[in-house]
Amino acid sequence: MFCHQCGKPLSVGANFCSDCGAPTNSKVFSTHPFNTMFRPRSNRMIAGVCAAIHIRYGWDLTATRILAVLLGVLLFPVGEIAYVVAWLLIPEEAPLVPTPYPGTQQPR
Ligand SMILES: [Zn+2]
Repeated sequence: MFCHQCGKPLSVGANFCSDCGAPTNSKVFSTHPFNTMFRPRSNRMIAGVCAAIHIRYGWDLTATRILAVLLGVLLFPVGEIAYVVAWLLIPEEAPLVPTPYPGTQQPR
């Protein structure tokens, strides 16, 4: 398991992340670090990889994109390959769930 907050591996049976202190309940923790990342359907330039990093880690979106371009230029073709790998690994944002018809809502 990996911490949903910092992505560090968690020890089995731990109630809190030993690194950042985030609680370890099954709803917010995943078995794969990329499960907590998603590529948003809006605000993306190419495939949304930089936007996914921005959402997951709180990095500045513009700075992340500049860094990605710099890596692509300086480490060609490592940056491009890393981008495509991240594109394949990070799932796309779930489509918007359609709202139920007004007549089918549960009474309060
Ligand atoms: Zn953590």
